[in-house]
Amino acid sequence: MLADKLVAAGIPVTRVVFQDIGPVGKAIFYAAATVSIAVFCWGMWLRIRKYRRGRPAGRWPTVRQALAGRSRAGSAGGIGRPDTATIGTLASNKTIGRGDRALGIAHFFIFWGFIVAFAATVILTIDVDIVRNLSRLIVGHEDSFFHGPFFLVYTFTVDTMGFAFLLSLIYMALRRGVRRPWRLGYARAHQPEAGYSRKRLVAGDWVFLGLLLAILVTAYLLTGLRILTQGMPWFTLFTPFGRLVAEMFAAFGMSPAGAVTAHTIMWWIHASLALTFVAYIPFSKAMHMLLDMANLLATDRGTTPNLPAPVPAQGQAGYQQLSDFTWKELLDLDACTKCGRCHEVCPARTAGAPLSPRDLILDLRQWADASSGGHTLLDREQRPDRTGPLAVGAGTRIAGDVVAERTLWSCTTCMHCVEVCPVGIEHVPTIVQLRRSLVDEGTMDPTLQTALQNLATQGNSFGKSARMRARWVKGLDFQIPDARKEPVKYLWFVGDFASFDDRLQENSRALARILTAGGVDFGLLYDGERNAGNDVRRVGEEGLFEMLAEHNIETLREAQFEEIFTTDPHSLNTLRNEYPERGASYKVWHYTELLAHLLETGAIQVRPLGYKVTYHDPCYLARYNGVTEAPRRVLRALGCELVEMPRNGVNTFCCGAGGGRIWMDDSYLAERPSENRIAEAAALNVSQFIVACPKDVTMYSDAAKTTGHDGTLAVRDITLLVAEAMAHPAEPLAAQVTA
Ligand code: SF4
Ligand code: SF4
Repeated sequence: MLADKLVAAGIPVTRVVFQDIGPVGKAIFYAAATVSIAVFCWGMWLRIRKYRRGRPAGRWPTVRQALAGRSRAGSAGGIGRPDTATIGTLASNKTIGRGDRALGIAHFFIFWGFIVAFAATVILTIDVDIVRNLSRLIVGHEDSFFHGPFFLVYTFTVDTMGFAFLLSLIYMALRRGVRRPWRLGYARAHQPEAGYSRKRLVAGDWVFLGLLLAILVTAYLLTGLRILTQGMPWFTLFTPFGRLVAEMFAAFGMSPAGAVTAHTIMWWIHASLALTFVAYIPFSKAMHMLLDMANLLATDRGTTPNLPAPVPAQGQAGYQQLSDFTWKELLDLDACTKCGRCHEVCPARTAGAPLSPRDLILDLRQWADASSGGHTLLDREQRPDRTGPLAVGAGTRIAGDVVAERTLWSCTTCMHCVEVCPVGIEHVPTIVQLRRSLVDEGTMDPTLQTALQNLATQGNSFGKSARMRARWVKGLDFQIPDARKEPVKYLWFVGDFASFDDRLQENSRALARILTAGGVDFGLLYDGERNAGNDVRRVGEEGLFEMLAEHNIETLREAQFEEIFTTDPHSLNTLRNEYPERGASYKVWHYTELLAHLLETGAIQVRPLGYKVTYHDPCYLARYNGVTEAPRRVLRALGCELVEMPRNGVNTFCCGAGGGRIWMDDSYLAERPSENRIAEAAALNVSQFIVACPKDVTMYSDAAKTTGHDGTLAVRDITLLVAEAMAHPAEPLAAQVTA
């Protein structure tokens, strides 16, 4: 072997550790290393102490599953992406590369480069401090495994991975400093910059990046100098990039003897930087290297479709103090890397609301940090008036003082932040917990208050009598069975909007006719149905949600059916994900899934329409429940040309109605999310904007009018397309267009 030949030639295939560092230097180094590790441990303890103040989160089974390499299927029962991560997700850095391949590759090499560098240090420590000392003690002479083939593999791996690490860091620095993606800017969403300063956040990013870069650069300079002092034996070709640096030094005229002093100086610079970095980790952005892995292992995306219960304390709703947060929620706050992905996609931020999910997390982080004895060095905001995240102390309201009321009410619970967050932060459950505090105080829009009162007294937000719920069936020339009185295969949970809104009742009748023509055996709950409670729960009115759910579950128990389908994606979400743990576990379908089945099995006959259309995925259908294909299958079966909007599928944009926003004032928005979406569709040169949610018909019909697109872009429920395709060609088709 090559290594054996070199040894035979009298050249030891290894490198000298502590080269030219005498006993005093070694003692200083070990003392500094001890201090550095002690500071690191102290910082880690401060962090752990904070998380220990949080409530139990019930995530240990998730962590165990993740470590065993098993993820849990998504809320859609396996249709969407998994709710939990695995150790493989971490190792591949898959979540970072989503939507930005170059960033994902760079982060992958930083991640593995760091692990290799750490492992290399541990191996060297084991050899130098344990094996050599023990062998001297036990066998009387110094032994070492740090030579020969082992050394060659070691040096090659460390050198090549280190170089990829260095290049990736340079890419990150250029991206941040030269390319400057908008989402990495820290300007607050719609707040005057005079009221706050985020210079320290920027400084924190650069110190972290700068320290890593300095450590890597000095490592290569040090390696080059050492190879030069060794006289560049040819086994140093196994350290290709270090050797390249040595060649460069030599080319500039540095001799092996001249490199000795430079090597010693560089050794101390490199060691000082490395030890400083170790001590700095728990007090800085560098902490995300450890926290993000833990956070991803414990993440459960399923907590957004199925919200956690309120704090189990008597007489308390929502969060009022640090110990009300679960440890996972506190970990979420620290895990944020400020990547800005959630900030970029948030419809509330886009609309001009004072909400950015990133800033909400950063504000809560700063407050939680200060409330637990604060130890972050940079990475924090400064304000002359000590409001917002700086409002710490007795009497501080988390919902209201730390995070403003309007910020919390601006959330549409669209889940896009949770979807895009690469480190598994669950923003929505935290927002809802804080809303629960506001509801408890009665701090809300008067319009929302009215809607909640209507829901409490009549079981629907329209404030209409329960007897009027099924009035829409009156226009039909056939009877729909009452599932409480006779058995049916499918129970149609219609939902408030499709039942009460005059503009939508024709859509409901059209769907009833299609299903009847397709031979579907279905029935209704008639006046027994109540609002499913999905948005009531997301508003933060947990008591009312429980009341509505209890009533519906009781009625469902009395009815005779096998499966449920619903017109409303919001109802679908809560029926599918939140009712089961309340004792009502059914198969729940969206009506587009039924339509796709009828079309594909030939149960209903259609003629091709040939329209050029675009389709809007409802958040609660696509992102929450993974149903993206069924509506597209329907459109294909109808012979329509589908032109996708840039934001589609699970990356869909929100209409602005979710999370109870449809019941709140939106006059303060610069541009409603629905208007933003209509503009996106209008740019595609299509004639129809197809939706599959009753609320969407309302939201987008209004937006088409306010943006002046109502003459060119018809907003239509997908049901009407099917009805049109089934109709006799002689029928006046244009009359069915809802624009
Ligand atoms: S759920 Fe949607 S609206 Fe709410 S913070 Fe997240 S991205 Fe913004
Ligand atoms: S919350 Fe997640 S997506 Fe948003 S800035 Fe932080 S790490 Fe990025």
